[in-house]
Amino acid sequence: MADPKGFLTTPRENASHRPVDLRLRDWREVYEEFEHHRLEKQAGRCMDCGIPFCHQGCPLGNLIPEWNTLVWRQDWRDAIERLHATNNFPEFTGTLCPAPCEAACVLGINSDPVSIKRVEIEIIDRAWDEGWVTPQPPASLTGKKVAVIGSGPSGLAAAQQLTRVGHDVVVYERADAVGGLLRYGIPEFKMEKWRLDRRLDQMRAEGTQFRTGVNVGVDVTVDELRSGYDAVVLAGGATAWRDLPVPGRQFTGVYQAMEYLPPANKAYAHSPINAAGKHVVVIGGGDTGADCLGTAHRQGAASVTQLEIMPQPPQTRAPQHPWPTYPMLYRVTSAHEEGGSRLYSVSTVEFLGDADGNLQGLKLVEVELRDGRFVPVEGTERELECQLALLAMGFLGPQQEGLVTDLGVALDPRGNVARDHSYATSVDGVFAAGDMGRGQSLIVWAIAEGRSAAAAVDSYLTGRTVLPSPILPTDRSIA
Ligand SMILES: Cc1cc2nc3c(=O)[nH]c(=O)nc-3n(C[C@H](O)[C@H](O)[C@H](O)COP(=O)(O)OP(=O)(O)OC[C@H]3O[C@@H](n4cnc5c(N)ncnc54)[C@H](O)[C@@H]3O)c2cc1C
Ligand code: SF4
Repeated sequence: MADPKGFLTTPRENASHRPVDLRLRDWREVYEEFEHHRLEKQAGRCMDCGIPFCHQGCPLGNLIPEWNTLVWRQDWRDAIERLHATNNFPEFTGTLCPAPCEAACVLGINSDPVSIKRVEIEIIDRAWDEGWVTPQPPASLTGKKVAVIGSGPSGLAAAQQLTRVGHDVVVYERADAVGGLLRYGIPEFKMEKWRLDRRLDQMRAEGTQFRTGVNVGVDVTVDELRSGYDAVVLAGGATAWRDLPVPGRQFTGVYQAMEYLPPANKAYAHSPINAAGKHVVVIGGGDTGADCLGTAHRQGAASVTQLEIMPQPPQTRAPQHPWPTYPMLYRVTSAHEEGGSRLYSVSTVEFLGDADGNLQGLKLVEVELRDGRFVPVEGTERELECQLALLAMGFLGPQQEGLVTDLGVALDPRGNVARDHSYATSVDGVFAAGDMGRGQSLIVWAIAEGRSAAAAVDSYLTGRTVLPSPILPTDRSIA
C-alpha cells in the first residue's frame, strides 16, 4: 500500500493549465509543470483497495495501484517497468485518455479519485528524461513478415509488439507522416508531436520499418500485400465521416473537422482553411468539436459557437451512470476554458450563403427528444452568423472502397471490419485492430486492441505466444 493515511490527509491535485492569454499565443500543451514531490503525495492517495476497479476501468488493465505505490516510494524506475508492462505508449494515454480508470477509482465513491492519469504521464516523462526508455530489439528473428496498414495507436502498438518478438514488421501509412490521428487529428496543444517522434525513433531502432505516402489498395495492391507478407494487420481507423446533408451544404466555408484539423496541425495559423477573423460554428459537442474550438481560437477566430443536438449533461453523476461507470457529464475541457459558447438541444437545418457561394450563416432550430427521436420545437428557428462551419459529428466506420473491398473481408452490421475472438477477419492471415474493427473509439482501446491483435498474429505465425492480450474484440467499457 502507498501512504496508509494519504487518502485522508491529502486532497486531490492536478497540474494547472497555463494562463489562457499566454497559451492562445502558441500551440504548446496547456499544462504547467507538476513537481515530483507533489506527484508522489498524489500517488500516496491510492488506498490499494483490494479490488481495484481502476483495473476494470482501464482497457489496458494498467497496474495502477502498483505504480502508485512505487511512485509514492520514489521508486520511479520500477514504476515505469510496471507501466510499460501493460502500455506501450503511456505518453499518449497520459496526455489524451479521458481516464475511465478515475471514474472507476474506489476512492471516488465518496471523495475525489486518485489523479491516475497525471501519475501516468509523470512516470513516463521522468523515464524518458532519465534515459530509462531504450530500444528493445528482439533477441532473435522468426523470418516471418507482417504488414500493418495504418500507423495510428492500434497499428503502432501491434507493430511494436510483433517486432519485439522477432517478426519483420512493415507499417504502411497513406499520410506523409506516421501517427494516424495522433499526428494530424489531435492538435499540438493536447499532445505535442515530439512525444510521438521520440517513440517512433525507439520503434525504428527496434527494427520496425515505416513506409509513408503509400495508400494500400491503390499504391500497393491487395495481391502484392498477400504475396509479400505472412500476415496482415488492418489498422486503418474509422475515417468515414458523418455528413450533414441540409440545404446549403455546398457553400464554401462548410468543412468536415478532419478537413480542417490536419492542415491546421501542419501549418497552424497559416493553414489554408483558416478561422482568423471569422465567426465560426462547430457542429458537434464532442472531443473532435473541442479540438476545432481550440484550433479556431489559436488561429484568431472572431467568435466560436459549438452546437450539440443532445441536451446539456448534468454536472454530477446521474442515477443512470452510477460508479464505477464512465459518466456522461458536462465537461469543461482546456479548449472550453479558452472561450466560445455552447448551445445544446439544437439542430442545424440550413446553411446560408451569399451570391458568390460563400457561407454567411446558418439556420438552427431547438429540438426535443420524443419517442427516441429529436423533433423541432415550433417557433424556435433562428440564424447564426458564420463564415466557417466545421462538422464534427463523428465517424461511420472504416472507408470501404479500396483496401477493404479489394481484400473482401466481411463487415459487421455497423460496417466495421468483422473479427472473431482472436482478431482474425474472414480472410485467412488478415487481422483487424483499432477503430477499423471497433468503430470510432479511444486511444486506450486502440492500444489495447493493437496489443491483443499482435498476440493473435504471433500465435497464428508460430503456434504459440508470450504476448499479452488485454481485451477481446467484444469487450466494452463498464456500463
Ligand atoms: C479530432 C480527434 C480527436 C480525438 N481526440 C481523442 C482524445 O483526446 N483521446 C482519445 O482517447 N481519443 C481521441 N480520439 C479518438 C482516437 O484518436 C482514435 O480512437 C484512435 O486514433 C484510433 O486509432 P487507430 O489506430 O485505430 O486509427 P487512426 O488513428 O485513425 O489511424 C489510422 C491510420 O490508417 C491510415 N490508413 C487508412 N487506410 C489506409 C490505407 N489503405 N493505406 C495506408 N494507410 C491507411 C490512416 O491514414 C490513418 O493514419 C480523437 C479522434 C479525433 C478524430
Ligand atoms: S490508459 Fe487511461 S484508463 Fe488506463 S490508467 Fe491511463 S488514464 Fe487511466
